[in-house]
Amino acid sequence: MVDVVVIGGGFGGTAVAKALDDIADVTLVEPRDAFVYNVAALRGLTDPAWTDRMFFPYDRLLRRGSVVRERAVRVDASKIELGSGQRIDADFVVLATGSAYPFPAKTDDDDSADAKARFHAARTRLAAAERVLLLGAGAVGLELAGEITAAWPGKSVTIIDPAQDVLGGAYHPDLRAELHRQLGELGVELILGTGLRADPPSRAGELETFTALTRSGRAIAADIWFRCFGVRPMTDYLAAELSHARRPDGYLEVTPELRLPGQDRVFAVGDLVATSEGKTAKAAGLHADVVAANIRALITGVDELRGYRPGPEGIALPLGPGGGASYSPEVGVLGAEATARLKGADLRISAYREVFGLAPQ
Ligand SMILES: Cc1cc2nc3c(=O)[nH]c(=O)nc-3n(C[C@H](O)[C@H](O)[C@H](O)COP(=O)(O)OP(=O)(O)OC[C@H]3O[C@@H](n4cnc5c(N)ncnc54)[C@H](O)[C@@H]3O)c2cc1C
Repeated sequence: MVDVVVIGGGFGGTAVAKALDDIADVTLVEPRDAFVYNVAALRGLTDPAWTDRMFFPYDRLLRRGSVVRERAVRVDASKIELGSGQRIDADFVVLATGSAYPFPAKTDDDDSADAKARFHAARTRLAAAERVLLLGAGAVGLELAGEITAAWPGKSVTIIDPAQDVLGGAYHPDLRAELHRQLGELGVELILGTGLRADPPSRAGELETFTALTRSGRAIAADIWFRCFGVRPMTDYLAAELSHARRPDGYLEVTPELRLPGQDRVFAVGDLVATSEGKTAKAAGLHADVVAANIRALITGVDELRGYRPGPEGIALPLGPGGGASYSPEVGVLGAEATARLKGADLRISAYREVFGLAPQ
């Protein structure tokens, strides 16, 4: 059997590993002891039941293959060097190390018990804060404001962003209008078109009253703040021959088959890929389908390789379990009730739990 080494056990990596488990000797390299269902991370901050629910152990993901709890530190086309110094040979390499984002949207704790403790401690501090300041009016900032106001209706929440409107990117104006309307009803204050002169003096997520000044000179007093911007692709481990694919911003150039340019057997999936589409778990899953099919075709020599085509752009943005708005080109804008039904109520967690051999919740 051929050896397929998948580096990174997020949405994209786990899907490729599972899809090739029957036809290859799959090794999934991942430093965490549990998959993190990031989609639920913001509710994981405000609701203790969700903190525990969003970590899925890897032990029932693969039937034949293995999960090696290590970080890849140097990767070339056929050899993976791990943090422990161990080396693994590979016939095919799949790069799936995703992206980092400030807490609470993502956590950098490899141990799920540590990560859970961090969420629980941050929630205790947040619960004690009367005024919350969120830096960034993208999807993460808005969603976090929705979760906070759903959990603690009286709390004052302010979002600030230098952009002129919420949600960067080419979203439909009606979607933005619906979000503005609901945020207004929730009492969330939006300060747009100006940033802070400097970060607040306290650390993000700490309970400490401060006053921050906007560039336009307004003083904002708050008791706690969170950074809701700053995604960073995780690609610094590529050895010389693969590092040519790495752009200055860290994202990886890929061919239509999702291979690194000039490489027959090195593929990439998920947030680290430099495609023009939104960076989503859904896109990572679609990348994984193409990469798994292409590796299978190369192993069996039966099918032609598939080219990746991004799916239609759409978004479902919950504002707490019962609110939010969604958009897709086919359906247009949907309001709170439909968004709650489609996503907000259960954050679509059961479908992913099934992939990991876990009972629905
Ligand atoms: C708050 C929030 C809400 C979101 N909501 C949605 C949503 O509703 N729908 C949606 O489609 N998308 C959503 N997303 C986006 C989605 O989470 C990402 O697009 C998705 O996580 C990308 O998957 P990935 O597999 O590329 O990477 P990740 O999920 O980032 O996984 C990468 C994995 O690689 C591991 N890794 C990193 N470096 C190494 C290394 N050197 N060696 C080995 N392993 C390594 C990491 O530990 C991690 O487990 C949301 C994101 C956030 C933050």
